[in-house]
Amino acid sequence: MKKRNFKIMTFTTLIVVILFIFNYYNNNWKLIEKVSAKQIIWQDESKYDGIYVDTLRDQFNEKRSLIIAATPVTKNKIINENLKNTSKIFIDEFYKEAKQQENGYQEYLKKNLKTATFTTDYVQHFDVSFISKKYIAFVFDQYNNTWGTGNEKTFSKIFYKDSGKEIFLSDFFSSDNYLNILSKLSAKELYKKYPKNTKFIEDGTIPKKDNFDSVVFTKKGLLISFDKYQVWPGSDGIVEILIPYKSISKNLSSEMRELFIDSNKDSYNKKSSLSEIKPVIVKDTKKIKTKSVDCSVAHCVALTFDDGPSIYTDWLLDILKEKNVKATFFVLGKSAKIQRDTIRRIAKEWHEIWSHSWDHKNFKKLTSKQAKIQLTNTDAIISELIGHNTPFFRPPYGSYTHEMLTNSKTPYILWNIDPEDWKEKNRTILVNRMSLASQGDIILAHDIHKTTIAAIPEVIDKLKAKGFTLVTISELFSPEKLKNHKVYYNKK
Ligand code: ZN
Repeated sequence: MKKRNFKIMTFTTLIVVILFIFNYYNNNWKLIEKVSAKQIIWQDESKYDGIYVDTLRDQFNEKRSLIIAATPVTKNKIINENLKNTSKIFIDEFYKEAKQQENGYQEYLKKNLKTATFTTDYVQHFDVSFISKKYIAFVFDQYNNTWGTGNEKTFSKIFYKDSGKEIFLSDFFSSDNYLNILSKLSAKELYKKYPKNTKFIEDGTIPKKDNFDSVVFTKKGLLISFDKYQVWPGSDGIVEILIPYKSISKNLSSEMRELFIDSNKDSYNKKSSLSEIKPVIVKDTKKIKTKSVDCSVAHCVALTFDDGPSIYTDWLLDILKEKNVKATFFVLGKSAKIQRDTIRRIAKEWHEIWSHSWDHKNFKKLTSKQAKIQLTNTDAIISELIGHNTPFFRPPYGSYTHEMLTNSKTPYILWNIDPEDWKEKNRTILVNRMSLASQGDIILAHDIHKTTIAAIPEVIDKLKAKGFTLVTISELFSPEKLKNHKVYYNKK
């Protein structure tokens, strides 16, 4: 080796080592407390200058109980104390709930009952909704899942950066009747979304503090969230509306008017652009349920639901929960995108979610490029919501080309019992058609039809009475045995 080359190499190596050490110290999080064997609290940098993140993580009861709670830390001690107390309420509630759940679980074990929903998952995320010279606002997203049911709460906290004093919703307005103003404006917005929901909207927007406990101060306006069922009876989950500051400028206190309307050029100290609040995904609970039924021994029948999720899906999920039955959902990407909470609930209650294309086009009439887009977009939204891809596909109308199947990366799953529930609206007829299933059959139903859902409790009862075990598609087939480029109905 030439001397000059050797020098260059030594120099390069040295630089790489320095960069590595620098990077290591810069990025490495700092463990600040190890409270118990599993519970740890660590501090990390955030994407905002001068704001750190304290994260608590604890997992126990053989992984049935899990908490991840992120709390912001600023340079102001008073703000930090306030934020810490906010997290403490959430964390304390988790430990209380986890203890209760575990007692319930032990009871079930004694009675030899089988259940899969004994998990307590609590996750708290936050983001900075804005920073200005004088103010800082945080938005918190608290998610919990107990007894198989998920709940989400979003709220924000705004502070004076210097004094650390918190500013409350009432401080935003010049007069005491701010709840009346919010009530009127949000009802108006909600009627635009749901024109027929008079009763729900009236009740959900009565001017009282409880109805407006989830308000986020964003740069554009007040983002108000209404709980599930507060203003809408269906399964839309949390409903959000934005009240622009401009529309309430007359009612704002002079200070707030100055902040949000007059001077929008306040300096931002962010490192990157303010991101949207990401959906909370509890990856640990998204594993596919392990196979618990051996269908070579048991008499298995699979209930599958296509074309959802819809406003009836939550009702169906309640029925399945009550009957302790797991089903398979072949969902449309476009519906999953809108009904995110329903998709999360399906996954959290251990049903299976597979792809049924983006918007139910007949694949025989699509170009291969169009077909590919249908599949990748659906996969993307499902994996965003539940943390994994979908290994099975059911083509709409059971329609596909030979070419499509040859190039497919997943097996196709069709059905053998079709009650034609899109056409038949008589509940009894549907019950009879679906109950005719025999060993290994796949029943096709649609969770977009009210009559179908109404028929399900009796279908389940009848099939159980005949000695059938109702299973998911992965339980019916071993996914690892299924081959791509193949179509499966049953008994094969
Ligand atoms: Zn369909």
